[in-house]
Amino acid sequence: MMRHKKGPKMLESTVENVISTHNLKANLSKAGDTLSSLDRWSVADIVALFELPFSDLINHAQTIHRANFNPNAVQVSTLLSIKTGGCSEDCGYCPQAARYHTEVEAEPLMQLEDVLAAAQEAKNNGASRFCMGAAWRGPKQRDLDPVLQMIAEVKAMGLETCATLGMLKEGQAEQLKDAGLDYYNHNLDTAPEFYGDVITTRTYQDRLDTLGRVRSADINVCSGGIIGMGESRNQRAGLLAQLANMERPPESVPINLLTQVEGTPLHGTDELDPIEFVRTIAAARITMPNSFVRLSAGRQSMHEGIQALCFLAGANSIFYGEKLLTTGNPEAETDKKLFTKLGINKI
Ligand code: SF4
Repeated sequence: MMRHKKGPKMLESTVENVISTHNLKANLSKAGDTLSSLDRWSVADIVALFELPFSDLINHAQTIHRANFNPNAVQVSTLLSIKTGGCSEDCGYCPQAARYHTEVEAEPLMQLEDVLAAAQEAKNNGASRFCMGAAWRGPKQRDLDPVLQMIAEVKAMGLETCATLGMLKEGQAEQLKDAGLDYYNHNLDTAPEFYGDVITTRTYQDRLDTLGRVRSADINVCSGGIIGMGESRNQRAGLLAQLANMERPPESVPINLLTQVEGTPLHGTDELDPIEFVRTIAAARITMPNSFVRLSAGRQSMHEGIQALCFLAGANSIFYGEKLLTTGNPEAETDKKLFTKLGINKI
């Protein structure tokens, strides 16, 4: 356990010890091993990472990134909202919640052929994974059946498949697996102690239960959170500790910057300093060395210099395409230009 109130030099050398201990153990373990034999990250350890001088933090993150990934390759996913708005939940950031008055209009589940056309376009644009998102508390069986068909047919097109459909009941993850689902997204959103400030219609444990079902069905886990919702640095570290300390950390960790939408309760929240966002990406990379860290929502408002810093800090996945469910995303052409400028190849 790390003690605080040290001078910067001592703090840095202690942090280096913590990082190298964790990293050595991570490197000794084989991919797919569980975390049970490894040290767990304390929230204090992760806060100490955030407190490092920026260059030192980025250097640690980049070193760990290079040890585990090609530093010039970024995985590209495209996200399609297959069922929009009208959601019964009360997530304070979300314009799709029926109870908030936003510009999002509720739309029913898309037709199969329209989903397949969007998947083909995503593939033509270089996406390797196609994510389908539906604004449900959780799918009823009659909702799930057409989605299973979408998954099977998108998979048959040669794309990896991902779905985000809300909470899953017993047996639903297995049906998704049988249909060919590669990834299931279900974000923890924030630290447990801040969760109730953002969402009241479900609990943190509900989220963990769904993630457990996804894991048990042998589907890859995609889980991360949203930064800039008014949480403290400790709570940002708390979110990362939850993810990094899972028996098997998620294969994919989306780190979203809150996109403030008028009409939602979190509209008007103090903007997060962009450097703090980069620090969060770096801390995610260090604490989850083998996971894809996804620079996710909020990129549209992010200067390309900050995006470049995020890649330097270890982000190696993005969403590609004009829309992220219902909020904007940089157009594919803008991303292509940025990748060319930075010498990044798409995976
Ligand atoms: S984040 Fe998902 S569950 Fe929450 S209100 Fe929006 S669509 Fe519903």
